[in-house]
Amino acid sequence: MLTGMGETILYHWLLVGLACALLFGIARPFFRRRKLQRVRFDGGLLRHELLFSALTLGASAATIGVLWGVLRRSGQMSFAEGPAAWWMVVGEFAVYFLAFDLYFYLLHRLMHTDLVFRWVHRTHHRSMAPNPLTAFSFNPLEGMLTGGFLPVFLAVFEVHRESLALIGGFQPLMSLYVHSGHEVFPRWWYRSPWTGWLQTPYFHDQHHARVGWNYGGFTTLWDRAFGTVSPGLLESFESRPWTEPELSPVLAAPRPG
Ligand SMILES: [Zn+2]
Ligand SMILES: [Zn+2]
Repeated sequence: MLTGMGETILYHWLLVGLACALLFGIARPFFRRRKLQRVRFDGGLLRHELLFSALTLGASAATIGVLWGVLRRSGQMSFAEGPAAWWMVVGEFAVYFLAFDLYFYLLHRLMHTDLVFRWVHRTHHRSMAPNPLTAFSFNPLEGMLTGGFLPVFLAVFEVHRESLALIGGFQPLMSLYVHSGHEVFPRWWYRSPWTGWLQTPYFHDQHHARVGWNYGGFTTLWDRAFGTVSPGLLESFESRPWTEPELSPVLAAPRPG
């Protein structure tokens, strides 16, 4: 159900992903020191994450495809005409970035209520030490709710096609980044007002390890506003030794926050 535009976006982000994988391969010693949690290989977990990643990617793509088709055909989704200046692309991307961030924060808080966690979100939290596969391992219903945001956003905000190349595919890539299990940024990151608003993998890694804190998708803004930043995050981030971590003990199954 991919359109020409959809294919361009897919190739664009595939290229970005490939470049990241290449960088990871070249700078392996650096990334080994920057690993956040070292856990034993778990075949059951791998099968779980492979299965739910496939189901979720399928459910998410189908939701986007169906909503896209319905909204385009009914004339509720259209794109701004004419070439877009760079500042328009930046502005439109910023609106999407902030809108999705708030949507994800609220949805994620809902996912951590007792019943919804048990029946839906627990699938994602099987991994207490996230890895890139965890980025897509969700209950398909959650994949539909997350994926459906893009066409609805495009129906509400008319953006240029150039902006779509940046907006489409950004969320999955950001999910891969926060679930990478490796931290690449310096100790002062969360102390500085210039950078501390943007999430790094450590922030979401703590969401999986401690459960009940750090619900944000892209930024730390809503967690700060609602007081859900994990206690001691700043201190633990600054005092990390950045040497290869010890093997973590097997952890108990997570509970909702
Ligand atoms: Zn969660
Ligand atoms: Zn996660």
